[in-house]
Amino acid sequence: MSFEYIRKIPSPEEILRDIPMGLKLKAIKAERDQEIADVFTRQNNKFLLIIGPCSADDENSVCEYVSRLAKVQEKVKDVLVLVPRIYTNKPRTTGEGYKGMAHQPDPNEAPNIVEGIKAIRRMHLRVIEETGLTAADEMLYPTNYPYLADLLSYVAVGARSVENQNHRLTASGLDIPVGMKNPTSGDLTVMLNAVHAAVLPHVYIYNGFEVKTSGNPLTHCILRGAVNLSGRSIANYHFEDLTRVAELYKERGYPNPAIIVDTNHSNSNKQFKQQTRITHEIMWSRMESPLLKDMVRGLMIESYLVEGAKPIGQNAYGQSITDPCLGWGDSEKLIHEVADYIRRSTPLQPQGRGQGEG
Ligand code: PEP
Ligand code: MN
Repeated sequence: MSFEYIRKIPSPEEILRDIPMGLKLKAIKAERDQEIADVFTRQNNKFLLIIGPCSADDENSVCEYVSRLAKVQEKVKDVLVLVPRIYTNKPRTTGEGYKGMAHQPDPNEAPNIVEGIKAIRRMHLRVIEETGLTAADEMLYPTNYPYLADLLSYVAVGARSVENQNHRLTASGLDIPVGMKNPTSGDLTVMLNAVHAAVLPHVYIYNGFEVKTSGNPLTHCILRGAVNLSGRSIANYHFEDLTRVAELYKERGYPNPAIIVDTNHSNSNKQFKQQTRITHEIMWSRMESPLLKDMVRGLMIESYLVEGAKPIGQNAYGQSITDPCLGWGDSEKLIHEVADYIRRSTPLQPQGRGQGEG
């Protein structure tokens, strides 16, 4: 084997012992998990916004971003649940160069995975401590999940991972919502099969053990647009796309069917400013159709302090190191506009504990 074993990585138990989560934060996390799960189980009629930078490359700018988000959350808490996107493993698309904070805690230094794991844990903890908001992260490497399992409130499986059994089976053991993205080909069957796999219990090999999972009834779909054979983006956020997925999904009869729409990536063709228009179209589609009002339960928006993306090698505070993002001003305005759509729409009857949109 042409591997050089550089060093042994500390176990999750060791890392959690060194960087623990206190009881107060555990209570905040439990409350947030319940509120987010209630969006999927229809026990409240709130709308989810998973919003933040493509890649969380810098602790200070991420914390500043989320603290601004927390102030907005207070103003829209009657109708929206804001989940900061804190993606700690986001690599550049080809895998060359920057691979995310977990590999490279300092983007300008060589990779250091032990320090990277500690850095992402500290960042997630600091965010909860300073803002009370728990975050979403992408599960690029399923074996790394236990390092953050106690901190995360939402997990996405990306377009390039969604066909992978290891991701699907690991998702089946999580007790928080997992969004399965459509693959870059746009094949909806792949996405729905991923949901199918993850809602079921499984026995498989995980981190050197034979493990048994419970099945995850909070697994759902994320539409992120597709790419055709000539490399052109094909959007899948239009009324007809959403209706088709909603119908296909219902035919399959999975628990808590739900669609989150990713407004960037191949839906915007990475024209990040289009996220505003795309969001309005989705909210409008939702107002037009009781089926979509029930099924489209949230959006994923790429947003940061400074709009756009920084050129490779430049250190621009609060600007994306990977995909271009909406800037703060546009993002704040857009969140309020989404909240207004939800306030204006007639609430569907919540199915349980919740009190409607309020
Ligand atoms: C992302 O979320 O930044 C991303 C690149 O997602 P996808 O897996 O849809 O390409
Ligand atoms: Mn991105």
